[in-house]
Amino acid sequence: MDDLKELHEECGVFGVFQHPSAAKLCYYGLHALQHRGQEGAGILVANDHKLSIHKGEGLVTEVFNSEKINQMNGIHAIGHVRYSTAGGGGIMNVQPLLFRTMAGDMGICHNGNIVNANVLKEKLEEQGSIFSSSSDTEILGHLIKRAKGHMIDRICMALEQLDGAFAFLILLEDRLYAVRDRYGLRPLAIGQLPNGAYVFASETCALDIVGAKFLRDVEPGEIVRVKGNQLLSRLYTKQPIHDKICAMEYVYFSRPDSILDGINVHTTRKNAGKQLYLESPVDADIVIGVPDSSISAAIGYSEASHIPYEMGLTKNKYVGRTFIQPTQELRDQGVRMKLSAVSSIVNQKRVIMIDDSIVRGTTSRRIIKLLKEAGAIEVHVRIASPAIKYPCFYGVDTSTLDELISHKMTTQELCEYIGADSLAFISEEGLKKSIHFKKEHTCDLCMACFNKQYVTPLYDNDFQDD
Ligand code: AMP
Ligand code: SF4
Repeated sequence: MDDLKELHEECGVFGVFQHPSAAKLCYYGLHALQHRGQEGAGILVANDHKLSIHKGEGLVTEVFNSEKINQMNGIHAIGHVRYSTAGGGGIMNVQPLLFRTMAGDMGICHNGNIVNANVLKEKLEEQGSIFSSSSDTEILGHLIKRAKGHMIDRICMALEQLDGAFAFLILLEDRLYAVRDRYGLRPLAIGQLPNGAYVFASETCALDIVGAKFLRDVEPGEIVRVKGNQLLSRLYTKQPIHDKICAMEYVYFSRPDSILDGINVHTTRKNAGKQLYLESPVDADIVIGVPDSSISAAIGYSEASHIPYEMGLTKNKYVGRTFIQPTQELRDQGVRMKLSAVSSIVNQKRVIMIDDSIVRGTTSRRIIKLLKEAGAIEVHVRIASPAIKYPCFYGVDTSTLDELISHKMTTQELCEYIGADSLAFISEEGLKKSIHFKKEHTCDLCMACFNKQYVTPLYDNDFQDD
């Protein structure tokens, strides 16, 4: 199972085509996507038949300063924020990747995970390719290089061989391609700036920050090309298209102000909170949410139950996401530094604590202890996602099978383990209902980490479930 750790990447991509301040806009866009990855950031700009790049490990503000951005002259840019678990880090894997070839330069960045990466890599190595990173992104570069014909055909031929989750941005000196896998697992939105320039971003919150108007999502299986001021679109694949956007994008991963596939994330979380109440009501004095990602669901639960919503927990903004820490010890320490229970609010109260998910159980266990130390007399936990029992192979670090607490414990056992007075998860149907609240919305969801129904074959990533 240890090998699986290297497979998980959670990333954000941003691209802008035809704007005099392309690097600056990219910087702001990546900053708005920082929650998708905090380990590395990079921007690649195109100008005068040349691509140049700057990237490094750390937060966007650590990798770039205004001097650096001002030096990055270019009218087109793509950028990336990266998160990977232990083993997959290192500067050589920070994106975008720049390929210099006799036919011209090409930059690629990627959010997601290619499930048949090892199979393709082996084949490419047999044919003479040498890889300089362990990132999946490099595979696409080699496949494009080996294909024949017009650039768009070569890219489509290369993409057709990939299976899994991806949102790619590919920049050449005079054109930009944006692609979304045929399941639409990872989001990718298209926007337009007031000067007409096209912008691409993993989430619409990054379009808002640069003042771009949201046009539409890149559709599953679609490749979009911008050249000059023209946007062209076609399907890259002859295989069936499925709408299976990742449910965890709504539950936890995306920002509440983002709109994914036409649906606002905050609204889906609030709906999930209401649904949780309908499915698992409990009598109590206050409802609290674990900041930040669970606030929306807590508001929903409070609204539906008419139990007041209170600020029972506060967060130190200057500590990164706990989960992002590579070891359990650091994660424990992270929870302690990050959250405090507000004694004057929870003391002598029966508390309903809403969280978006339980992965390893560290967060809930620690917070319940904090709440009880602060005087809460009962803590009832309601989780706005179903129990996560299986690993994700599509680019979200939901951890390995043996670390997933709901894989090892029943809800009752877990309730005792975290020290709660009661524990309930939203049902799969309930979550679906919360996300598909618009009647006209037909797209489906990947829920494989809850129900093991993976949307692709798992190739050599398959695991023993016993
Ligand atoms: P844990 O302490 O391992 O149970 O982690 C659960 C917390 O991590 C939840 O409160 C979520 O807000 C957050 N979380 C859920 N999924 C992820 C993920 N894929 N990456 C980072 N954090 C996550
Ligand atoms: Fe998202 Fe879970 Fe599917 Fe992974 S397995 S893509 S985390 S829903």
